[in-house]
Amino acid sequence: MRGSLRFALVALLMAAPAAASLTLNDSWVVVQQALAAKDKAAITESVRELKAAAQEVDARRLTPYAQALVAWAKTHPGSTGDAALVQARQLDPWLASASFMQTKVDWARGSYLKAARHYVRGWVSVFRDVLTRRRILVSTGPWLLLSLGAALLVGLILQGLRFIPHVGHDAFEVGQLLFSRPNAFVFAVVVLLLPLFGGLGPVWLAGWLFALSLPYVTPARRLASVVLWVLLVAVVPSLELWQAVGVRRMPIMERAVVMLEERQVDLTALQEFADLEPHLDRSEAYHLVLGALLCLHSDNLSARIEFQRAAIIAEKDPRPLVFLGNLAYRDGNFPEAIQDYSAALEVDSAYTLAYYDLSFAYDQAYRFREADEMRGRARRLGSDELLRKMGRSGSAMVVDPPIGREQVAQIAREVPPQEWGAAGLGSAGLEPVRWLFKPFPLSLLATGLIGFVLYPIRKHWLWTARSCTRCGKIFCRKCKSATESDAYCSQCISVFLKRDVVAIDAQATKLDQIRRWERTSTIARRGLAIVIPGGGLVFSGQWASGMVYAFVAALSVLGLLVWLPGFVREIEPEMALLPLQIVFIAALALAWVGSLVRAWNRW
Ligand SMILES: [Zn+2]
Ligand SMILES: [Zn+2]
Repeated sequence: MRGSLRFALVALLMAAPAAASLTLNDSWVVVQQALAAKDKAAITESVRELKAAAQEVDARRLTPYAQALVAWAKTHPGSTGDAALVQARQLDPWLASASFMQTKVDWARGSYLKAARHYVRGWVSVFRDVLTRRRILVSTGPWLLLSLGAALLVGLILQGLRFIPHVGHDAFEVGQLLFSRPNAFVFAVVVLLLPLFGGLGPVWLAGWLFALSLPYVTPARRLASVVLWVLLVAVVPSLELWQAVGVRRMPIMERAVVMLEERQVDLTALQEFADLEPHLDRSEAYHLVLGALLCLHSDNLSARIEFQRAAIIAEKDPRPLVFLGNLAYRDGNFPEAIQDYSAALEVDSAYTLAYYDLSFAYDQAYRFREADEMRGRARRLGSDELLRKMGRSGSAMVVDPPIGREQVAQIAREVPPQEWGAAGLGSAGLEPVRWLFKPFPLSLLATGLIGFVLYPIRKHWLWTARSCTRCGKIFCRKCKSATESDAYCSQCISVFLKRDVVAIDAQATKLDQIRRWERTSTIARRGLAIVIPGGGLVFSGQWASGMVYAFVAALSVLGLLVWLPGFVREIEPEMALLPLQIVFIAALALAWVGSLVRAWNRW
């Protein structure tokens, strides 16, 4: 499309139709005839001539023609389709869809090595082409962001959960300073579940517990917690920004209406409208509107292709055929124009405009009797409005089917805007994940800031609870009687450090307690490791490596469920997704098994 637009620009600047472009156009008609006849030798020969014609204007990548051949090959499987595909790669060696189609053909035939080579070439083409490269790179943004968000969320929730006993203990001790013992317990519960008492949701609770956990972690991890918090708060605004940048394409439809209604030439808008082609390819109205816009910019070559596509999509619509007839008529090719108008009338014998335009073509071909007959039919069939319009155009000039606001609105009905509105990329698959992160910025910002304010107060005037490294019991400065060790609770100090003064049955009870504690924590760690890749590691304190596993797992899952079907499929519809799906499933399995093994044996 880009190349043909450059032609249009050159043609406009020179204010003279390029003679060579006629040759290109004529050559393409020959290719189409060969395709219609399903003649392999003729296809090869006609494409060779088309390439020769292209060389004269130094056109190297005949992308629209190659795309048309690929589309034809898709609907015509078999040896002629294969021949068309080979010729498509002749016309544009770097057309990704041609390579990907060839991959499917080779694979079905059992030539796996060839298939692999074409697949790699397809990917190289995707990154070689400025447009698809940009689309692929833009699409990785939300994928990476959401994967990162998921991994960070795992870290946030698990850290909050892990220190519930510590927070509860400290709140209980504070409560005992203020109230009676039972009321102190109620106070601790209220402190832990404060957001829920305030009528706020689970995300607020997760953020609150995370914020309260800050005093209990090591300084390094506290710094990491702050970084995690900042990143997680930024995930949603980043996504919003990404979408806002993407949605900027929306007004292009309005601009298309203005161009059509005011017959205004606008090459930038035309380019932008044409760039939507991969996403709107199945919309007949889009091809009609784009064709009309290209006519407006005197790029008849590209317009012709758009009308041909529209005619293929909507076989019952006479309008694209009338447009094709008008293009031929204006080129002075009256026999072809008569053919096109007649084809339009075969599709819809009540389409008045076709009779009207056909009458002019007959006039030009000196078939006056038939011309009069067609004019008569147009008059009998035509609505008053159309006849007035015909009368107004006055001179012996063919009239185009009306294309305007109605057809532009039709595009959105044929392909929902969410499929092309966001950066020209689908975002439908993103919705559930976006919904999950929606309450994040406000709740995390608020709870995090409260946590940061509380932290120095608690550090300075209060105490922080610890858990006994031996039995898991929570203790703090206030409730601990023995001072021989910082890491052990009072009971463990008397049992293990002052062995002689403790009764045997008290020792046995303590050992029982330790075994129970070890069993419970092992079950929790392994259970988490099974449910969430990396979860067991994060829970047992290997925060960084656990988060890496969680990130790889999230990347794989979102890649499989969102990125591949929602974005890659849209950007390159012909691409086989299986190889990438296998890669993602393997990555997910590796992340899961690797983190599970490590968490299981507590490496
Ligand atoms: Zn202990
Ligand atoms: Zn205490």
